[in-house]
This record gives sequence, structure tokens and C-alpha cells, in this order.
Amino acid sequence: MSIFDGLIQIGENGEVFYNQWIEWDHFLIPNKPEWLREILRNIMAIFGHCMKCSALDGCYLVTRNMPEQPLHENCDCRKINIAYTKVKSKAKAECDIRKFTEYVFKNIKDSKGKNKIFYDLGYDINDSQYLQNEFCKQALNQYLLGNYVLKNLDRRGQRLAIPTNLNGTVFYSGWMLCPEGEIRNTTPFGGWIK
Ligand SMILES: [Zn+2]
Repeated sequence: MSIFDGLIQIGENGEVFYNQWIEWDHFLIPNKPEWLREILRNIMAIFGHCMKCSALDGCYLVTRNMPEQPLHENCDCRKINIAYTKVKSKAKAECDIRKFTEYVFKNIKDSKGKNKIFYDLGYDINDSQYLQNEFCKQALNQYLLGNYVLKNLDRRGQRLAIPTNLNGTVFYSGWMLCPEGEIRNTTPFGGWIK
């Protein structure tokens, strides 16, 4: 296993991706468990350490598509080159089925019009399980190609927009980047791709 594994990757439509993966590192912040990580992030914040930086700690990103380092003055983050095989073995996508059952397909008012988009694409609440699986599968594939868009970064973490294709219609879904290659769905529909 070398850090050069998977440096060049080919997407579904033959696109070539040049991906050097790194793990964002801020000292003293453990990747896991989540409760300990949160405690240490908050303690470090008392000593003036940036919560945006500590939220990125442990996250896997491709060098061509990552927040710039240093993130701010006196930033003590660094990046560690890691092999794609490691990213691939650890990465996982999670999407709570309630994103569909309790949000998208809930009712017109609560879904902010998002249910119409999904109804128009031919889905209803009975497809929630299918959509959950499909969203995770597609987002994981795209993330592993480095094919994500960096969105808002705040003290809770780095949001990603990831292309999602349903019946040939492509749009962005919204995800939170978590340590060790985990991505968690924040919103099933994050906007049309322009
Ligand atoms: Zn930093």
C-alpha cells in the first residue's frame, strides 16, 4: 500500500480525477469516539483553538478540493498524505431514512416544496428506503472520486454538495464531512446543478 495508490481515478463518464488524499490534522483532537472528540474540541476552544479547524480534524479530503491551509493566522493544522486504499476502506455514507419519511415526504409546508421535486421525479414515501440506499451509494462513490463541492464551513463542520442522479435528473444533495471518511446526509435536495 503506497500513498500513490489511486492517484488517478476515472469517473463513470470517463472523467479523469487526480486525487492525492490527505487527512486534516489538528493536534490533540481524537477522531473517535464522538463524545470525547466534542469534549476536547470544546476544551481546546477555551484555549483559543479554532472550532472550524478542530471540526476538520481527521477528515479525508483531496488536495485539489480542500479548504486552504492555513485556514487563518496562527492555524496549527497540518495535512497528512494518506493512501486512497485507506480512504476507500474507511469511508461510509449515512443518511437517516427520516430525511425522506419525516421531511421530504412529510407534507408540503414542512418540506419547503421539496416533496414536489421528488414526486415529479416519480417517487413517494414508499420509496424512502430505496432513496436512502441510492443516496448513500451515489454520494459515497462521488466522494471517493473527490467529486464534491465545498460548501459552508463552521464550528460544526464542513458541508459538502455532492451530485446525485435520480432517473437522469442530476442535483446536489447536502452532506456533513466527518472524520475518517464518513459523510452524513444533511439535506436530500441541496439545489440544482447549474
Ligand atoms: Zn487550523
